[in-house]
Amino acid sequence: MPVEGEPSFSFEFFPPRTDAGMRRLWRTVRRIEALSPTFVSVTYGAGGSSRQRTVELTKRIAGETTLRPVAHLTAVGHSVAELRRIIGQYADAGVRDVLALRGDPPGDPRGPWTAHPEGFTHAHELVSLVRESGDFSVGVAAFPERHPRSPDWESDIRHFVAKCRAGAHYAITQMFFHVEDYLRLRDRVAAAGCETPIIPEIMPATDVRQIRRFAELSDAAFPEDLAHRLEAAREDPDASRRIGVEYATRMARRLLAEGAPGLHYITLNQSDAAVEIHRAVMAERGAAPALRG
Ligand code: FAD
Repeated sequence: MPVEGEPSFSFEFFPPRTDAGMRRLWRTVRRIEALSPTFVSVTYGAGGSSRQRTVELTKRIAGETTLRPVAHLTAVGHSVAELRRIIGQYADAGVRDVLALRGDPPGDPRGPWTAHPEGFTHAHELVSLVRESGDFSVGVAAFPERHPRSPDWESDIRHFVAKCRAGAHYAITQMFFHVEDYLRLRDRVAAAGCETPIIPEIMPATDVRQIRRFAELSDAAFPEDLAHRLEAAREDPDASRRIGVEYATRMARRLLAEGAPGLHYITLNQSDAAVEIHRAVMAERGAAPALRG
């Protein structure tokens, strides 16, 4: 997926639950479309109706916009036959990009993992299935602070490399807040002889309570100095936004300067902070983002 020579830039959405949420998302989608990103991605829910909403939203983006949608897909609660059917729906709708994930147990993401009796246990199996199912481009997850279930770095990297060797074209990281964590992961993967591009995920930290919750769920270490500055500004949403955008912009610039193959922005279905960071990054690189329409 990363374009040879040029860093990719991309944005992540989640399928909204309400009509109002969908209208707001669609405004964001149109705003982001005007920036001509390399791709956009749609997360996959833990279960139930949100999963069908992922499929519908991804198909709609493919059918009604000029964006290239990447469908997240997890093995949670699915038989292989069900996964084949979902992949088939994407093929029918012209969606050619899947982020192949194992997923977490529904309910308690830290609870014990139980595979579907006719399903998969690890992401590499899903990577192989998607690759066998057609001419798909496949991405996988990477963890700059190590996957929380990995007992040590050695096994974490070994299993990451195995899913790349199963046919992943690129990886996108979990959110993180220290550039060094990304660089160390990249070095470890390279030392294991794997050249799969790893795209860092950028989370604009503009709401301290929300970010602390996300960081806890993902085990991402949240910098105390940033937390203090956001706490101090918690009654002033504009100041909080400025602090979060500045921090993420600095991270994004440094990541590109260190050779990251792209940037993947979490939007939470709102474009402002992500677009602001993206514009600042592009302006520094001397390429003002093209606006169409
Ligand atoms: P795996 O690669 O299977 O790894 C899981 C654990 O098992 C790791 O500790 C790994 O080292 C270990 N392991 C792997 N292979 C083996 C093996 N053969 N033997 C023993 N151990 C092994 N979740 C969602 O529900 N929906 C989403 O849309 C979603 N999007 C995400 C997007 C990104 C960019 C990222 C980084 C994560 C996303 N997640 C999503 C979360 C992800 O599903 C969880 O973090 C999950 O716990 C790990 O998924 P994985 O694909 O990395 O699993």
